[in-house]
Amino acid sequence: MDNDTIRTEQPYLSIVVPVYNEEGNLGPLMERLYPAVQGIGRPFEILFTNDGSRDRSLEILRRMVQQYPGVKVIEFNGNFGQHMAILAAFEMSRGEIVITLDADLQNPPEEIPRLVAEIEKGHDVVGTIRQKRQDSFFRKFASRIVNITTNRITGMQMQDYGCMLRAYHRYVVDNINRCRESTTFIPALAQTFASNPTEIQVGHAERVEGESKYSFYSLIRLNFDLMTGFSVVPLQIFALFGISTALFSLVFALFLLVRRFIVGAEVEGVFTLFAILFFFVGIIIFGIGIVGEYVGRIYQEVRKRPRYVVRQTYGFEE
Ligand code: UDP
Ligand code: MG
Repeated sequence: MDNDTIRTEQPYLSIVVPVYNEEGNLGPLMERLYPAVQGIGRPFEILFTNDGSRDRSLEILRRMVQQYPGVKVIEFNGNFGQHMAILAAFEMSRGEIVITLDADLQNPPEEIPRLVAEIEKGHDVVGTIRQKRQDSFFRKFASRIVNITTNRITGMQMQDYGCMLRAYHRYVVDNINRCRESTTFIPALAQTFASNPTEIQVGHAERVEGESKYSFYSLIRLNFDLMTGFSVVPLQIFALFGISTALFSLVFALFLLVRRFIVGAEVEGVFTLFAILFFFVGIIIFGIGIVGEYVGRIYQEVRKRPRYVVRQTYGFEE
């Protein structure tokens, strides 16, 4: 296929890559990604979202727009996070099949044809399971929680939601584009629109350059977003727990009352009472925290701020 065809034809494949301070990875990524996608032999586009990088990433991406036909760049006006970066690219993507992948080469681009094949078989979402995952223990632990929660919420059974090498059918992406929530977790969101998802095993490499953009804190945030963003189960569990502890306390109070008449007044139990009290205070604070999570989200939605701001785009004009 010659370069002009790539430029003008309706793309069949859209590759979406979020980029945040990845100057060292972009070159090597492109050297592997471009031939892998070209090898499929269908018109394609590669959309990079520069998520407010403070290094030379944007400069490198702009050069790639000149150099590689089909490359497009969305430049954010600040750092809005990996998922917003992907959403922005989803909105501008035109391919029948949309594939997301990280810029850090932890996901091998050579696996893309296998993902495409699965969609062509009739699956609407293709997830990937990382074989021999090359991440820290803590990272893997956080992912397990994400996986368990997402499965509970969506009522589906997938093993690995954390791996961002994923393929989506156009209609799943269109549905995602209709969602306006300001915090999200794309694999879980996609799952709610999927009717025939599947998962395949792929290799996983260690991050070559730079370090993970996810801190301990942002991983906790992601888990909270996931739980409170997709279900009200935490609120319901908390309410149930409140009712049962209240009942239990009532029984306990009755028991103490009866004891008061049989044994007489006693003070030795004071510390037990304190222990119980602290336990409940802890639970109450936790509950307020959960309610706060929801209130915070409602606040965010009510403000209706734009979810991200695009400063400029490159390579879209035809
Ligand atoms: N990323 C982004 N914005 C952010 C954080 C990350 O666009 O605020 C991109 C990052 O450049 C990479 C991908 O999201 O392409 C995954 O990030 P990272 O490798 O740090 O996450 P991990 O592999 O540790 O889950
Ligand atoms: Mg990574």
